[in-house]
Amino acid sequence: MHNFHDAQELTKALCPDIPVLLNRPHAARRAARYFVEQFPGKSLYAVKANPSPALLKLLFSEGVTHYDVASIDEVRLVRSTLPDAVVCFMHPIKSEGVIREAYAEHGVRVFSLDTMEELEKIERATDNADDLTLCVRIKVASEFAQISLASKFGIDVADSAALLQRARQAADELGICFHVGSQAMTPLAYVHALERVRTAIVEASVTVDIVNVGGGFPSIYPDMTPPSLNHYFSAIDRTFEDLPISYSAELWCEPGRALSAEYNSLIVKVEQRRGNELYINDGAYGTLFDAAHIGWRFPVQLLGKGSEGATMEYSFYGPTCDDIDHMAGPFLLPEDVKAGDYIEIGMLGAYGSAMRTKFNGYGSIDDYDVADEPMASVYVGDNLDRTDRENVVSFPGV
Ligand SMILES: *Cc1c(COP(=O)(O)O)cnc(C)c1O
Repeated sequence: MHNFHDAQELTKALCPDIPVLLNRPHAARRAARYFVEQFPGKSLYAVKANPSPALLKLLFSEGVTHYDVASIDEVRLVRSTLPDAVVCFMHPIKSEGVIREAYAEHGVRVFSLDTMEELEKIERATDNADDLTLCVRIKVASEFAQISLASKFGIDVADSAALLQRARQAADELGICFHVGSQAMTPLAYVHALERVRTAIVEASVTVDIVNVGGGFPSIYPDMTPPSLNHYFSAIDRTFEDLPISYSAELWCEPGRALSAEYNSLIVKVEQRRGNELYINDGAYGTLFDAAHIGWRFPVQLLGKGSEGATMEYSFYGPTCDDIDHMAGPFLLPEDVKAGDYIEIGMLGAYGSAMRTKFNGYGSIDDYDVADEPMASVYVGDNLDRTDRENVVSFPGV
């Protein structure tokens, strides 16, 4: 397949009538290397953020060996794409048949849970296996994250002692995990959550082998520039080191967004313009689910023209017949956008291409690799170690 340098070159050559997903392998590799080298523990990729096999292979080749999956199809996908990967089943509610298949047929040994029933289910489905790593998911606050994951899963720390003790007996290795919510805008989210882990360990007085701080590591979007990832890593490291755990205890994380956001952007075509509404050929049932349903803003650029001249705020309508196929934005573009123009929408590698459906006969897409930089990156320049210390956790010197 012919590859292009960037969206500009591609639209000029192809004038695509369907949306085009652009892959940036170099950006995914850079993200993987950063986590593998800088995170003070093991980084599991959360497959749901972007299950593209090409991406999985890129991450694996850069040293991401562990994969966080949440369904049997994700188990099968990772196992068939990466035969040597370690697959960790981190959904706390699974059916017994699924656990049995994951354990017996795909070599899965790591499971999460947040109830006694789930623990009993895992024991039955694995015939009381003695090689299990069981991660008890605790409930933590989502107050610092843009997308909450606080209410659905996790046992209250106040109720967790008995479950931790029972899981300790059943497990070869015992872990505690949590998720602070997606796009956590300050390292404090992890510090507060780890304080709950401390309480849970103390109350249950169990030996913990793994502390898994989950996902939530941020990327960059319009009006959402988080502190640099190294501040998250050092805050997590310091708080982890201070927990009542053994020297050999492991620290894990499960980034989805941070490893995949920069991997994709999207080229859409403007089919019609009405005032400040642009009717484009992808939308709420396609790659722009988050833009529509939770009002997420993504960076945009008009292709084929210089960027001088006045800009204005637009919103987008997607191609299906539904009113909710609407992305409010606002998206800032030149005043003279017209039907037939192409727009590149950036930072769609996480929860973008993964959300695509075939509703209303749309959803077909082409994809190409490109070599230019993503519209924003947490892994280059100032963003690698931003010096403005807003939201950064400082620790007294040791
Ligand atoms: C979704 C999810 C992740 C990834 O979250 P991001 O915010 O994309 O980093 C990690 N762990 C679990 C258990 C999840 O459900």
